[in-house]
Amino acid sequence: MLVKHKLNEKERGYSRRDFLKITGGSGIGFASLAAVAAIKELPGTNEGMLFNSRLKDPYLPQYPTEYPWWVKEIDDTANSLGTTEIVPNELALGSTKVNGQYQPFTDGRQDGFQAVGNAATNQDWSGEWGKIAQEAVTSRNEWIANMTPEELQDYRFGTAIVQASDHWHVNTAEKNWIKLPINAAKVEISAEEMTVKLKGVAHWFGVDQIRVCAIDDKMKPFLYKVAATSGTLRGYRPKGWIDPGRPVAWPYPYKYAIVMGIFTSLPTHRAGVGPLANASTATTCSDQDVYSKYMESTIRGLGYDAYGMIIADEDCCETPFAIRAGLAEAGRSGLAIAPWGAGLRTIVVATNAPLVPDKPINFGLREFCKVCGRCSANCVSQVIGKDPEPSLINGAYKWEYDGFQCMKQRTAFGCQFCVSVCPWSSPNTPTHDIGRVLASIPMLAPMMVKVADITYGKYPRGENADKWQPWHTPADWAPWRT
Ligand code: SF4
Ligand code: SF4
Repeated sequence: MLVKHKLNEKERGYSRRDFLKITGGSGIGFASLAAVAAIKELPGTNEGMLFNSRLKDPYLPQYPTEYPWWVKEIDDTANSLGTTEIVPNELALGSTKVNGQYQPFTDGRQDGFQAVGNAATNQDWSGEWGKIAQEAVTSRNEWIANMTPEELQDYRFGTAIVQASDHWHVNTAEKNWIKLPINAAKVEISAEEMTVKLKGVAHWFGVDQIRVCAIDDKMKPFLYKVAATSGTLRGYRPKGWIDPGRPVAWPYPYKYAIVMGIFTSLPTHRAGVGPLANASTATTCSDQDVYSKYMESTIRGLGYDAYGMIIADEDCCETPFAIRAGLAEAGRSGLAIAPWGAGLRTIVVATNAPLVPDKPINFGLREFCKVCGRCSANCVSQVIGKDPEPSLINGAYKWEYDGFQCMKQRTAFGCQFCVSVCPWSSPNTPTHDIGRVLASIPMLAPMMVKVADITYGKYPRGENADKWQPWHTPADWAPWRT
C-alpha cells in the first residue's frame, strides 16, 4: 500500500478528460490546481507523472489531487471552523470522535483508544472507560465462542493484521522514535514554493490529500495539555504500563500544521463491522504513521524543524485541523468527511518551515447531512444524533454522538459502518462524480439521499442481520481468502 506505482490512464479507468466531458468542461480545482501547474514549471519535475497510487485498493488511483469546481474554498472567520459554526468563547472541544460526554478534552491519554487500551492492558475495570473496556472484552469473548471455524479464521487473520498495523503506533511513538537531526544548511525558498514542493512530495509518497493551516489561537482548544506517549490497545504494551504523559507547550512551538489525508480501502471498509473492516481501518491507521514520519524527516532534512504526529501519540485532536486546512467538512457522524468520503484518515505534521495556509472548503456537506442521516440510521450502536439540525455542543454546532458506546462497539467487534454507508464514500468514477456534483447543491440533496437509499439500500446488508456478525459475505474481497 505504500509502494509507488505508476498507472496509465487506461489502468486508472478514469481521466480528468472524462470528467470534463461529462461536466461540460466546467471548472477544475482551486489552490491545488495552481500548485500542480507550478510544479510543472519547476525544473526537473515530473510532468505527466501520476500521483496517488496505493496498491491496497483496486480502484486506485482514485482521488484527484485537484478539487473540482463544486468544492468551494471559503473564508476562515473567527466564528467558523470550516462550515461548522462555532462560538469561540465557548469552544472547549472540536468535533472529536472519541469523547462522547463532551467534556473538555485536554489529556491525550483520555482518548478512547488510549483509555480502553490502558484499562484492558492492566485489567483495570474501574472508572467509565474501565467499564466500557470490560463490557467490550466480555462481548468479544462471547462472539468468539459462537464463531464457526470459517468465521474464527477470519477473526484470526483480521486480528493479526490489526495487531501488526497497530504495532507501528508503539514503535513510532515519540519516546521511541529517533528524529533525524535538522540539517544546518537550510533550503531557502519562498513559502509559496515550499508549499507547492512539499505537496508534490507528499502526493508522490502516496498521500491522497495535503493542505496547510496555521496553528494559532483558534486551534488552541484542539491541542492537548498532556499528550499520550505510547500506542493503542492492540499494539503491544507490557502489563502494568501506566502512561506518564508528555506536556504539550502553549504557545505551541510550531507555526503550521501540514494536514495530510489518506482514504481507507473502499472494498474493505464496506465490510462495515468485523475483522475485515477492522483490518482495513488499522492498516490505513499505521500508514498514517509512516507518511507522517516521512514528511517529518524530509522537512528536517531541508533544514526546518518538524514533528510528525502519529496516531495515539499526537499533540492534538486532528479533525478540526483537517477542517480548517480544507480537507473536509464536519459531518453528522462527527467524522471529517471529504468530497471523496468518510474514509478519510488525517495526519498532522507540525512545522516551522515557511508555508502558505489553505482555506477551508464547502462542498454542501452540512446541508446534505441535515437531510441524509444514513450514518445515524445505520449506526450499530445507535449513537449518532437523529435530529436533522445540529445543536450547540461545547462551542460548536454539531450533532450528538456518544463516544463511549461507539468505542465499546469498535473495541469488541471493529466497526466503521458509519463510514461505509455515507453516500460520499464512493469511488471517483464519472457516475459517482455526477452524483457528488448534484449532492453538493442543497435543493437537490433530498433527491440524492433517495438515490443513495435506492442504489445501496436504506439499510445496507440487511437491517435484520445479526447485529454482532461481521457483515460481509464470503464473496467480499479479503487478502487472506482464496
Ligand atoms: S457505526 Fe460503528 S463506528 Fe460508527 S458511530 Fe456507530 S458504533 Fe461507532
Ligand atoms: S451518512 Fe449522511 S448524514 Fe452521515 S455523515 Fe455521511 S452525508 Fe452526513
